[in-house]
Amino acid sequence: CKIDYQPAPDVLHDRVVLVTGAGDGIGRAAALSYARHGATVILLGRTISKLEQVYDEIEAQGGPQPAIFPLNFEGATLKDYQEMADTLDKEFGRLDGLLHNAGLLGRITPFEQYDPALWERVMQVNINGPIWMTQALLPLLQRANDASVIFTSSSVGRKGRAYWGAYAVSKFATEGFVEVLADELDSQPNVRVNTLNPGATRTQMRRTAYPGEDPARLRTPDDIMPTYLWLMGPDSAGTHGEKIDAQPPKQP
Ligand code: NDP
Repeated sequence: CKIDYQPAPDVLHDRVVLVTGAGDGIGRAAALSYARHGATVILLGRTISKLEQVYDEIEAQGGPQPAIFPLNFEGATLKDYQEMADTLDKEFGRLDGLLHNAGLLGRITPFEQYDPALWERVMQVNINGPIWMTQALLPLLQRANDASVIFTSSSVGRKGRAYWGAYAVSKFATEGFVEVLADELDSQPNVRVNTLNPGATRTQMRRTAYPGEDPARLRTPDDIMPTYLWLMGPDSAGTHGEKIDAQPPKQP
């Protein structure tokens, strides 16, 4: 956890970073924060109006011109990921960072009642889509000097909990996939991959999962950005195959 990290103002200068689910919640905060620290951010998500708002905010804060990439992980195909890689190759020639942040909660419900179609959707958005997107983008990541790939995990992806169904399973799969990929990339020191657990954070997803909770007691997406900046930037060089937490486990 690097919540006390104090990044240099231009710590991501000259880095091209793709953020999925960049229109809302933690992804939105990460896109804005990465741009504020010098990155050229590719805003990927399914709701274009939200991405456009983030785009305008980045322009207003004077950051490097971002790019919008509309994509819905439900229904996206290998062809879409390959086209994305080709477009990014033409525009930028490399990718220095990839934050897999988009996520779908599904339902908190006993497994006996879990709807199989919803289970499939959660697996598609949280793990299958991101895996094939990563495969298409690997050649671009390999062209960077120090590429950081971050997969968003959860505490229920490290210890199972009743009723969390597909969401927990997708996050366990995320942890497992990153172990496999990190082991494979050991021989390629210019691409590192880690999981990042944001911890309880004040977003729409958290409100849906814990409707009775007082959101004022939770850290905001902005509060956890120091760890997001640290793991994306050069100060975490060499950190590879690790499970990182964005905030201390308990509120101070
Ligand atoms: P939000 O629900 O606020 O945001 C999720 C983002 O993912 C939105 O931008 C959403 O787009 C996007 N998204 C959802 N489905 C798709 C899809 N099919 N295709 C493309 N984009 C999609 O969630 P958070 O910001 O809270 O969560 C961000 C990440 O952090 C997730 O991976 C989540 O699992 C994880 N996490 C969050 C915690 C928390 O307390 N908040 C705790 C632990 C982990 P749109 O706006 O269009 O719906």
